[in-house]
Amino acid sequence: MKISIAHLYPKLLNLYGDIGNIITLKKRCEWRGIEVEFEEINIGDKITSHDLYFIGGGQDKQQEDVAHELYKNKEFLLSERDLGAVFLGICGGYQLFGHYYQPHDKEKLLGISLLDAYTVAGKKRFIGNVTAKTDIVEPNTLVGFENHSGLTYIQGETTPLAYVETGHGNNGKDKTEGARYKNVFGTYLHGSFLPKNPHFADFLIELALFRRYGRKFPLEQLNDGFENKAHEVLVGKSY
Ligand code: GLN
Repeated sequence: MKISIAHLYPKLLNLYGDIGNIITLKKRCEWRGIEVEFEEINIGDKITSHDLYFIGGGQDKQQEDVAHELYKNKEFLLSERDLGAVFLGICGGYQLFGHYYQPHDKEKLLGISLLDAYTVAGKKRFIGNVTAKTDIVEPNTLVGFENHSGLTYIQGETTPLAYVETGHGNNGKDKTEGARYKNVFGTYLHGSFLPKNPHFADFLIELALFRRYGRKFPLEQLNDGFENKAHEVLVGKSY
């Protein structure tokens, strides 16, 4: 078995070690004998079809550079979404999955509308640990670290990834954290996200296998002692 993973613009969007998400996906496949075809996509590269696409977070300037490039691939990535491809975007990358990101006193950055969502820069930065409850995976907690001024609002058929118990999440008001539409997932959780949420990493791998082979492959259970400890230490931790 194998899956193909594309890492979108890692030279620009890789804040707070978001590359740890790619390392987690690769290792959790390798430990199960699942081959990973991996491709880094940088500015100027053609984006080709993959089972799973990952994009990390970044400062407004890097988002600006990536937004213009990503937008050129909007129609292709929308068709990939509708064919079941899996997407995970963290913070700045998540914001570009929506219709737009309006930074402080700068041009609006057009997103690729994988999610029915939009983001506007807020007056204060949300910084700290987050614990959020989700009904997508078991255990039903997701933990991580947020650092963003962007306020994201989701609408239409796009649903929250989770609801915050500690921290601010999408906008510090409606208690939502992250977003999902089809197999597109966005979250504000850095940390990086997947090493501390191995159950969610496995959920994404299962979705990517389904996209490739058209059927569910229940994954072999791994010895997640360290990962689960890292998760438990953060549950309920408020900054
Ligand atoms: N620049 C965006 C914001 O401040 C995203 C930041 C990030 O990716 N951590 O909201």
